[in-house]
Amino acid sequence: MRSVLPSASAPARPERAPLKPLDLALAELLALAAPLTPVESISTFDADGRVLAHDLRSGLDVPAHDNSAMDGYAVRCADWLDAATLLQVNQRIPAGSSGHLLAPASAARIFTGAPIPPGADAVVMQEDCDAVEGCVRLRAQPRPGQWIRQRGEDVAAGAVVLQRGTRLSPASLGLAASIGFDKLQVAPRVRVALFSTGDELVMPGDVAPADMKPGAIYNSNRFFLKALLQRLGCIVTDLGIVPDRLDATIAALKGASEQHDLILTSGGVSVGEEDHIKPAVQALGQLNLWHLAMKPGKPFAYGKIGAAHFLGLPGNPVSSFVTFLLLVRPFILKLQGARRVAPESIALPAHFDCAKPDKRREFLRARFDASGGLELFDNQSSGVLTSAVWGDGLVDHPAGQTIAHGDTVRFIPFSALLS
Ligand code: AMP
Ligand code: MG
Repeated sequence: MRSVLPSASAPARPERAPLKPLDLALAELLALAAPLTPVESISTFDADGRVLAHDLRSGLDVPAHDNSAMDGYAVRCADWLDAATLLQVNQRIPAGSSGHLLAPASAARIFTGAPIPPGADAVVMQEDCDAVEGCVRLRAQPRPGQWIRQRGEDVAAGAVVLQRGTRLSPASLGLAASIGFDKLQVAPRVRVALFSTGDELVMPGDVAPADMKPGAIYNSNRFFLKALLQRLGCIVTDLGIVPDRLDATIAALKGASEQHDLILTSGGVSVGEEDHIKPAVQALGQLNLWHLAMKPGKPFAYGKIGAAHFLGLPGNPVSSFVTFLLLVRPFILKLQGARRVAPESIALPAHFDCAKPDKRREFLRARFDASGGLELFDNQSSGVLTSAVWGDGLVDHPAGQTIAHGDTVRFIPFSALLS
């Protein structure tokens, strides 16, 4: 019979802490992530992906004048009597110049972007006109306002075009430039120290696949975590692999805490004898070790060492990847003062069944199928990184529920999380 008492050789099973809901963990983390200072002033050219640190208010209307949306003729609609009406072309207005008052029964040759001359109330595109010896004939009656872009139709003077906390995109750089900003005030980049723990880890390139010792695995987390951090604009110090020893873990954490805003680790965050993250962080600062009610994921640590935040991810690659996207990414965005930090999901039909409910909220790797629904990767193990490459995102599957083919599910696309 199996003994119910812990044997002398096996360590006593640690008391099982209640699982922490993901939303609660995220709210607690975000409350701890005070936006970093000081704000930097950088060229608008260099601001893609950075977080705007001030409201950007326009000092002018865009466009600044009513202007032509076409190459053609600026006219006064009332001058058109019928298709035989001849209007004299007595001015020419290329983009970048301005015209003068349109005389009665005349037209101005005008080009796209050029200001509409006073008196004109429509533009007729050149394809709808016949030019005849210094005059023009319009084949159809012009409508007032046609092919005229209104002053201020894009941006009105005084309007805030980009709010503080906006993550700048290529289009937002263009918009900032359109109101005259060559420099922008942005949040500082987050300085992150990254290391992996695990004596089984080997760097690709150091040992050929054929020479890998039994039990050794290549360090995959280091690659995607570094890339994910870089996509968030972080300045990454890659500290490589730290051996599974308490002294080595303490030394790595201590060094990293000095010049960094955040220390991010993967692995060693459970409570086995080879998991040294917990005692090491506790020796230097404070630590909360959470058991998250999510799958993949579960063990996750938040701590503080001096002024540096500490986030410890689980070692299983998919757990590491998913907890980064759902917890670390929002945390980093909040350090940058971003307004929208939490991942956003969309409703889509499930083209799969999930008959087995789980007591943890699951994030299933799924992808779009050709008929506008989602199909599921067949192996949802937290060690199977292929699922994250195959998938287009994560189905947010609530705890205790089943999914039947055709049900509407919430889906978080990777495209929204990987930039
Ligand atoms: P740990 O959280 O350290 O107990 O690790 C859990 C599992 O994830 C183990 O199978 C480890 O070998 C694996 N693992 C930990 N770190 C990495 C890594 N950097 N790359 C790939 N697998 C890892
Ligand atoms: Mg380990």
